[in-house]
Amino acid sequence: MIGRRDFAKLSALTLAWAGLPSYGQNTYTLQKPIGYAAIGLGTISDIFMHACAQSQMAKVTALVTGHPDTKGVKYAGMYGIPKTSIYTYETFDRIADNKDVDAVYIGLPNSMHCEYTVRAAQAGKHVLCEKPMAISSAECRKMIDACRQAKVKLMIGYRVHYDPTWMQAIQIIGSGGVGQLESFQGGFYGQQPAGAWRLSKKLGGGGALMDLGIYPLNAIRHITGEEPTDFTAVVSTREQSGRFTEVEQSMEWTMKFPSGVIASCGCSYGERGPSFVNINGEKGYLVMEPAFHYDGVHLHGEVGGQQIDQLGTGKLPFQFVLEAEHFANCIRSNKEPESPGEEGLKDMLAIEAIYKAAGAPIA
Ligand code: NAD
Repeated sequence: MIGRRDFAKLSALTLAWAGLPSYGQNTYTLQKPIGYAAIGLGTISDIFMHACAQSQMAKVTALVTGHPDTKGVKYAGMYGIPKTSIYTYETFDRIADNKDVDAVYIGLPNSMHCEYTVRAAQAGKHVLCEKPMAISSAECRKMIDACRQAKVKLMIGYRVHYDPTWMQAIQIIGSGGVGQLESFQGGFYGQQPAGAWRLSKKLGGGGALMDLGIYPLNAIRHITGEEPTDFTAVVSTREQSGRFTEVEQSMEWTMKFPSGVIASCGCSYGERGPSFVNINGEKGYLVMEPAFHYDGVHLHGEVGGQQIDQLGTGKLPFQFVLEAEHFANCIRSNKEPESPGEEGLKDMLAIEAIYKAAGAPIA
């Protein structure tokens, strides 16, 4: 069994090999925190704002909400934001004049990501947009073009890219720790209550695949650095209670990558189940479960003939702190984010191919 110290040594070696930055160490230095405007004050924005409050490098300096007198006032009080920096969806464009806002964080329903990215870019603000990037590849392209034209940066909130346990897994694989990759299995399963916006095709764009399936999809694309070419997919909506009249309940699919890696993935909105990945190589394997939770990511497996076992110790909202700081550093040092708009577009192209393979095209 590889102990903690050996694991750290292995990580340091693989980190050096991969030439990757070590975001987990908070080694960036910034003159002044990056000011974020949070757009849509729901569950994920609440976590993101809490994350910024724990960082020296990111600060929430403005709010955009349909409820300025209730939610707006509440969060402004919590984070020391002046009332003049509370915007509604109608007054949002005036944010162009707010010098305390460098970037926006978009925590809105999926179908609103495109509009607010384009408007933020036109206001001259950098954009950190939640996943899924949008609800079609055409929208993703529009967002990339708008940010390019306005010369602002665009990052998609793939938080596990910034999770140290995930980074270790990527480094182990990249340094040949499991040999040639052969296959991957991954899934993310959960429940959605009746009436949730995620069950509306107009707001969600799709069902479990768009929201949860994107995690194993992005994980295997991130691991291989390749784009899938062959798809098979089966969609099922078993429950007839009225919850799933617009979007799918469950999707299981396979993808083949140019190197020959086969991925089998699944997701559901009507099932209690784990978030997991199995990464199988010719010489070893890695298992992560939970894989996509906000904290407690558990990595174990066999590397170089030895058992490894590593439990992520960071606590919610640490992934979001690392994500917010990564983008802050990219803005300050004029670097491309590790999960740029192009990454969101590639996932969306694969999502469209999966829906098509299942006989349930997106549009
Ligand atoms: P939520 O329902 O909790 O919040 C959505 C916010 O948008 C609310 O403040 C709501 O008032 C506002 N809103 C504005 N117009 C709306 C409309 N027409 N209908 C519904 N809400 C409207 O949702 P959430 O869970 O915070 O998800 C927001 C985004 O964040 C989604 O794109 C989701 O996929 C993403 N997300 C990412 C993660 C992650 O781990 N990266 C986790 C959860 C959600």
